[in-house]
Amino acid sequence: MSLISDNPATAAPADLVLPDLEAASAAEVVAWALDEFHPGIALACSFQKEEAVLLDLVFEARPDARVFALDTGLLFDQTYDLWKQVEERYSTTIERWQGPTLAEQAARHGDKLWATNPSQCCGIRKVEPLRRGLSTLDAWVTGIRRDQSPARAGAAKVEWDDQFGLVKVNPLADWSDKDVWREIAKRDLPYNPLHDQGYASIGCVPCTRPGEGREGRWAGSDKVECGLHQEDA
Ligand code: SF4
Repeated sequence: MSLISDNPATAAPADLVLPDLEAASAAEVVAWALDEFHPGIALACSFQKEEAVLLDLVFEARPDARVFALDTGLLFDQTYDLWKQVEERYSTTIERWQGPTLAEQAARHGDKLWATNPSQCCGIRKVEPLRRGLSTLDAWVTGIRRDQSPARAGAAKVEWDDQFGLVKVNPLADWSDKDVWREIAKRDLPYNPLHDQGYASIGCVPCTRPGEGREGRWAGSDKVECGLHQEDA
């Protein structure tokens, strides 16, 4: 199925019919999505525990599945180490989607933009590279779960993404934290060691602190999302 159109509008195509896969397992959702959209589909990998599971499901379904990561240049060393480990384990190359260099950003917007205007920094380093990359795809797979935050509570397993104009597949939408850890143990999967140091959610070094749920992200501010799964909040 090709959904790419010349129209940059993000409304769903009038003839788009998405299946109701709410009762399907994560593996079934992944298999359906790759069958339907590959090579126009990729897994968004932020190297958190959810992606540990999704990477395994995706490569189980298709060894040539596509995976991308947004490299802000500010990820933890542990995250970059895991990146290499994942590439070796699955004999794959994760597509690196990037914004401007940190030096270019500093020259244009001042040093440490994350401290003065984190929304602009996320926009430049995450949202714009994501928008560019997703504009070449028909669908993306994400690790979002409904219990992660109120903003994610309404996520369906398969839905239209109005923000970026493509199908969004959330195979773990109904999983709990425990479900994820149980699957990691069952499959003996590599995961980000920062989780063992109290980081429930892991992003860029300057904006991530240990904490439950997403409380460690942009701690001390009202910001809770990068703008990848909803407009910046
Ligand atoms: S998480 Fe922080 S450092 Fe990373 S892109 Fe957003 S504001 Fe910038």
